[in-house]
Amino acid sequence: MRLSKAARLILVGAPGVGKGTQSGRLLKRFPQIQAISSGDLLRENVRNKTPLGIQVQRLMGHGSLVPDTMILRLITSELTSRGWLKPNNTTGITMNASSTAEAEDSDDLTPSTSGLSGNEDPSASFILDGFPRTAPQAAALDELVPINMVVHISTPKSIILDRIVNRWVHTPSGRLYNTTFNPPKVSGKDDVTGETLVRREDDSEEVWNTRLKKFEETSLPLLEHYDKLGLLWRVEGESSDEISPKLFAEFEQRFGVA
Ligand code: AMP
Repeated sequence: MRLSKAARLILVGAPGVGKGTQSGRLLKRFPQIQAISSGDLLRENVRNKTPLGIQVQRLMGHGSLVPDTMILRLITSELTSRGWLKPNNTTGITMNASSTAEAEDSDDLTPSTSGLSGNEDPSASFILDGFPRTAPQAAALDELVPINMVVHISTPKSIILDRIVNRWVHTPSGRLYNTTFNPPKVSGKDDVTGETLVRREDDSEEVWNTRLKKFEETSLPLLEHYDKLGLLWRVEGESSDEISPKLFAEFEQRFGVA
């Protein structure tokens, strides 16, 4: 399915709600969309031992957030290298309008503080994963590239916890099982190799309660920020399969053409 205009999307949701799953399904259905993950970009810098990578390695190791200035530099550079932003001598950065002749003549491409204008060429469509994480990061992004849809994925906490405590993994392959809705054929054994399944060390209810609480605290200002801009859309469901059709329907209504 093709898009009729640019989709610039953010998925916000607690750990364990399946943001990665929804993002993957959207990319598959709409090949024009690209995904940018701040965590992946940071890990790449750490792997390549860049000056930024060396600076952030410790913070990431502790699960702390990387300073806003660093993460913004990283995202700006990534958006520029993908051709969606171009350096501007006076304001620093503007939306790149070069992909359509029509857009080139448009004044709308100057970054807007309202965050509601931008390059509408469908090829400039993307999903940001892991960024912005805080309200100041969101405000900075508004100046850079105006996001036009923020999806808040919501799943009851009891369901997330239930999923986590019943999760078993085959470490060498990464194959995941769930004793409730996706059990292995033989209890405790990987379907393919027959090797023993294990629980992830950090898949305890206590660890996850802490993670979920932290998410609720930090995401609130972010959700409020986008709610004020009229960009927030909330979808609720107990599983990824329940959420996807609702998300697709809303997304297609906003951006899709048959
Ligand atoms: P993730 O893969 O999204 O869980 O990110 C892994 C780690 O990268 C996080 O624990 C943070 O240390 C860092 N990180 C990723 N995105 C951001 C962000 N937007 N702001 C600050 N730190 C981030």
